Amino acid sequence: MGISIGTNRAAIYLRQSRDAAGDGLAVERQRQDCERLAAERGWTVIPGGVLTDNDMSASTGRRRPGYERLLELIDARAVDVVIVWHLDRLTRRLADLVDVIDRTEQASVRIATVAGDLDLSTDAGRLVARILGSVAQGEVERKSARQKRAGRQAAEAGRPPARRAFGFTNGAQHPAEAEAVCELYRLVLAGMTMVAATRWLNERGFTTTTGKRWDRSSARTMLLNPRNAGLRAYHGEVIGPGTWEPIVDEATWRAARELIADPARYRGQGALRWLGGGLFRCHCGARVRVNYSQHGKRVYQCQARSHLSRSAEPVDALIEQTLVDLLRVPGLLAARVAADEQDGVPELRDRAAALRHRLDQVTTDYADGLLTGRQLKAATEKITDELAEVEGQLAEAGRGSRLGSLLAAADPGQAWLDESDLGVRRSALDALVTVTLLPSKPGRAPFDPATVRIERHARG
Ligand SMILES: [Zn+2]
Repeated sequence: MGISIGTNRAAIYLRQSRDAAGDGLAVERQRQDCERLAAERGWTVIPGGVLTDNDMSASTGRRRPGYERLLELIDARAVDVVIVWHLDRLTRRLADLVDVIDRTEQASVRIATVAGDLDLSTDAGRLVARILGSVAQGEVERKSARQKRAGRQAAEAGRPPARRAFGFTNGAQHPAEAEAVCELYRLVLAGMTMVAATRWLNERGFTTTTGKRWDRSSARTMLLNPRNAGLRAYHGEVIGPGTWEPIVDEATWRAARELIADPARYRGQGALRWLGGGLFRCHCGARVRVNYSQHGKRVYQCQARSHLSRSAEPVDALIEQTLVDLLRVPGLLAARVAADEQDGVPELRDRAAALRHRLDQVTTDYADGLLTGRQLKAATEKITDELAEVEGQLAEAGRGSRLGSLLAAADPGQAWLDESDLGVRRSALDALVTVTLLPSKPGRAPFDPATVRIERHARG
């Protein structure tokens, strides 16, 4: 059947989309088919008239230089006919298709497809074109839904995400990066700030997986990634154990996450919220631990019985002011440090080892399905709190040398406020005062300083 046209200048537009595996339509085959059609119809492809966009999906709206050149040729009436393999090669978006139809109409250019001609000069032809365009658009949407579903299925099977994460290569650990990640968790748990952690990574020549210098946000995201603990997340939620080997155990990751995810910690004095865990006492004589209330507020709770739960922030603020005042008393800290000889270090080490073993055990129990995620979280928090206390006491055992920087400072009060090492802050506190939390009125009464007993240690 002859299609009668007056002129015969043609352009061929070819596009390779990412889903080419699905329709098997490589650019080379499109080209052959389009050239055959041109030969059959007696059209001459103009010089530079074969336009190709490679490896781009027409649906993502990214720049397509070949397509843009084609529109120029149409607008300039430099061609009489545009040949494409199928309309969906030209564009997959209905809005773009309407635009092309308008332009070809304006310029009296026709569109020929190998799959069958469309006469866009008639209403019926344009209607078909629009239907084809919307079908193509529907396919794009379905493809996107399929990809999301595939991602969800991979997540549920515990497979690692397709994108490489720092610390890992395909399916394995990256030795140098994994070691750095491991060390960084240790440092952060010991009180390193994210600013320092970022510098630490950059100083060692590490870059992000996209080759960029670390900034606080990327370092934070990296450490918060559950993949490091062998946990598979989907849309930010941990949905179960992964199939790959973790860099750190879950307890470490959870403990670090709690620190990092708590933005107050990085507003300078936020570390004070941890000041009293294992250090302050309950009125019954037991120490307090740090916990969260139902409303997510950090609270001090009696370790022994459930008869004390106090919001941590006002207590810490009060203790902070007291400490600054005390530290400004000349010679007071030096006298206390000299008078205080710590012992009991071996026992503390044994306790720390036992707690770490218990942490491993609950993580294993979780992996074996003996614990639910909620139980694991509760157990992990309890053990890591206890461990933090023991490690704090161990740190305090080395008090003299650790408090050296405070003793040397012109203003020990300010130096203590500025001190980034929580262990040093706690050591100084423990050297100077004993803090006891007394029962407070039930309900939402405002903070009453009288419910915090601060006893200064006897001098010398
Ligand atoms: Zn108590």
